[in-house]
Amino acid sequence: MAELRISAETRDLTRVERIGAHSHIRGLGLDSSLEARAVSEGMVGQTSARKAAGVILQMIKEGKIAGRAVLIAGQPGTGKTAIAMGMAKSLGLETPFAMVTGSELFSFEMSKTEALKQAFRKAIGVRIKEEAEVIEGEVVEVQIDRPAVTGVASKTGKLTLKTTEMETVYDMGAKMIEALNKGKVQSGDVISIDKASGKITKLGRSFTRSRDYDAMGPQTKFVQCPDGELQKRKEIIHSVTLHEIDVINSRTQGFLALFTGDTGEIRSEVRERVDEKVMEWRDEGKADIVPGVLFIDEVHMLDIECFSFLNRALENEMAPILVVATNRGITTIRGTDYKSPHGIPLDLLDRLLIITTQPYTEDEIRKIIDIRCQEEDVEVSEEARLLLSKIGAETSLRYAINLITSAALACQKRKGNVVELRDVNRVYMLFLDVKRSTQFLMEYQSQYMFNEPGDGEGQED
Ligand code: ATP
Repeated sequence: MAELRISAETRDLTRVERIGAHSHIRGLGLDSSLEARAVSEGMVGQTSARKAAGVILQMIKEGKIAGRAVLIAGQPGTGKTAIAMGMAKSLGLETPFAMVTGSELFSFEMSKTEALKQAFRKAIGVRIKEEAEVIEGEVVEVQIDRPAVTGVASKTGKLTLKTTEMETVYDMGAKMIEALNKGKVQSGDVISIDKASGKITKLGRSFTRSRDYDAMGPQTKFVQCPDGELQKRKEIIHSVTLHEIDVINSRTQGFLALFTGDTGEIRSEVRERVDEKVMEWRDEGKADIVPGVLFIDEVHMLDIECFSFLNRALENEMAPILVVATNRGITTIRGTDYKSPHGIPLDLLDRLLIITTQPYTEDEIRKIIDIRCQEEDVEVSEEARLLLSKIGAETSLRYAINLITSAALACQKRKGNVVELRDVNRVYMLFLDVKRSTQFLMEYQSQYMFNEPGDGEGQED
């Protein structure tokens, strides 16, 4: 069987971020004791939901809830997606975060369960550690709980795999641990190691020691530095997702599909081979599996087949944390005649930790509007902002946010620099909110096609 490929190209893949509805969200805005600050990191209000999301994040970071699932439920426009984005931002780039919308699963050019499978695997990270030759004067990383040197960077920054060195490396790791245990050296000390005898001499403190050092737990970094010169610590870990490894190893696709997104269906043999190999690397200490977060918005759009797939997929050893969101109450489970809370079958619902979001006060809407004006780089007068917040409270937050962009265009058209009351008024008259649009429909419904008098159900937002 051919060796599994982790091509160098994957290292350079970065996430593409769009300036969009949630671009102002930079985190969950929590303090160190996980209390939500009133306004922070682009987040306003919704404090209990944010705090709950923070607790879940903490559990994710501590690796405690792999394979668990969270439901964020609340009315439209109450920040469910915003909270999920906040979670993604707080996790940082090391932990994968994949996002898919319920309805998207039905529009991919692949079966819905294949689309779900790919989404799951995009949310599972693999951190691959490379072992390299030990050269004097370079940085050595030691894991104290497992006495093995996990990586050494070379002077050029290139990484060489030298399994034959493993024994020597292992020995030095054990020597360091011995020295540590005897209190001869401490975490962050600069030490020199005599390769032949393994004798350790303390040279001083390492400049790499930072406040985060102790938080890193059992992992300690040593600088092997016989001439007392300090070397910079070099990165030796590649982070990829299982999906990326699948695509690279799928003969029909090739890694270029990662850029086009046109991956098509991936054969199950490829996935099985990838899983086997990744497990093998994990057991050999060459890789860590990092369960990330899979966020499924509009989860009520999933059908019974998708739900049973989710139930099964969560049982998998390598499952990510699943976060789903919906704005539906009791509704029919798609693909069945049964009704259920949020349109989710009871067996899945029973697994979920549920977070609810609450409607915003006018003051909170005001603050969100302020943040969005800043984000969109639009200068808006005091009165115009007040009007926008009133409109937000009367209609919906999303409608008010949409008016900022259109009011800015109206202002530009009259060659103004600051959005004034009249600009907001103008676009308010031009674009209807749901209430006024419904009112309009009621008045003129007889002139529309397919109208069924008295049918108020099944409204999509
Ligand atoms: P739906 O049920 O319709 O999908 P939702 O609950 O997911 O709605 P969002 O899309 O998150 O609502 O919110 C609507 C807009 O308001 C977005 O631009 C979002 O970033 C912003 N927003 C919502 N809540 C907050 C908040 N607490 N702080 C800052 N911005 C927010």
